[in-house]
Amino acid sequence: MIATDALMWINLRPELMFVEGQGSWIVDQNGKRYLDFVQGWAVNCLGHSPAVIRNALAAQAGKLINPSPAFFNEPAARLAQLLAANSCFDRVFFANSGAEANEGAIKLARKWGKKQRGGAYEIITFENGFHGRSLATMSATGKPGWDTLFAPQVAGFPKARLNDLDSVAALIGKNTVAVMLEPVQGEAGVVPASGEFMRALRQLTIDHGLLLIVDEVQTGMGRCGTLFAYEQADIQPDVMTVGKGIGGGVPLAALLAREEFSCFEAGDQGGTYNGNPLMTAVGVAVLETLLAPGFLAGVRAKAKLLSDGLQALSTEFGLAGERGCGLLRALLLPDERAPALVTAARALNPIGMLLNAPRPSLLRFMPALNVGHDEIEQMLELLRSVLAQK
Ligand SMILES: *Cc1c(COP(=O)(O)O)cnc(C)c1O
Repeated sequence: MIATDALMWINLRPELMFVEGQGSWIVDQNGKRYLDFVQGWAVNCLGHSPAVIRNALAAQAGKLINPSPAFFNEPAARLAQLLAANSCFDRVFFANSGAEANEGAIKLARKWGKKQRGGAYEIITFENGFHGRSLATMSATGKPGWDTLFAPQVAGFPKARLNDLDSVAALIGKNTVAVMLEPVQGEAGVVPASGEFMRALRQLTIDHGLLLIVDEVQTGMGRCGTLFAYEQADIQPDVMTVGKGIGGGVPLAALLAREEFSCFEAGDQGGTYNGNPLMTAVGVAVLETLLAPGFLAGVRAKAKLLSDGLQALSTEFGLAGERGCGLLRALLLPDERAPALVTAARALNPIGMLLNAPRPSLLRFMPALNVGHDEIEQMLELLRSVLAQK
């Protein structure tokens, strides 16, 4: 294996190097194959190296890579049209990561507060929520310990409790401009906001003249079985961010807003790579695939298979059940065995498996949205053997 000591140390990583991938399978430097239910952290929504992305990249790379963000380009305009036509939003700003899209949402809310709400700037976010790793999005994040890491924080992100409307109402004051949340808290362990809570929150924000911002970086782009998770609560948010799946594995994210809240003025927002045609051409290819007839119904059918299978394993091994939405699911453990299970799954031979443990007491599953039924069955079988070992 090539030496890795020139890479800045940021986290413990296994002594492995992945060299290729295809669909739901990824291969390491020794040629060992792994069934991948992490998929680049829920980003490879069409699996590893799908033809539709390879073709879009190659075609666009041969045509135009970056005319600079000072000019319009066709793929960005096309992707914005497609997103607007398939959501309750009217305007799109492209970014390169979920954190950057969320920074844009925070800036947009503060701008709107300045123009329409007498300088209100506070955005109520949630305990255990996750919005990214930039300074402002870390401040918006409700991960324990992150309030003192890299202190001082960016001010103005009081934390409420998910599914507790009173905890939100109690934080509303004259400086409040918005409420921002994930429809399903992903990094916190796949914790859904209830439909009832989302509807009540929508009403509360309307009553107080606040923006409702949904961070759909993890839940959007078909992950939950509908194009966006907010649709399932039957509400219309004011602002949304998407990331991860929209690029199918390449760096692309977006900030979307309804017309009346799309209030940036010249020079407020931008970025060298933002909306570049190479990435947005991939976004078009991904979104057209998700919108093809039957695709999202297929996601829902596979979600049912995965959910039923996880529930059966939970019953068989006396675990604590499963939860999630669409193909974003968690198997709940009665103990803190998840990291050991992840390691054991990777070490299986001759075929390994990639799983994720966002918390010690649960496993998260975020397969490609086009994962095969047979691959879900195979994952459940491999998981069964790992649970039987431990
Ligand atoms: C992953 C994630 C982010 C951050 O996205 P990056 O592309 O890693 O910056 C933000 N919000 C949610 C809900 C996420 O899951």
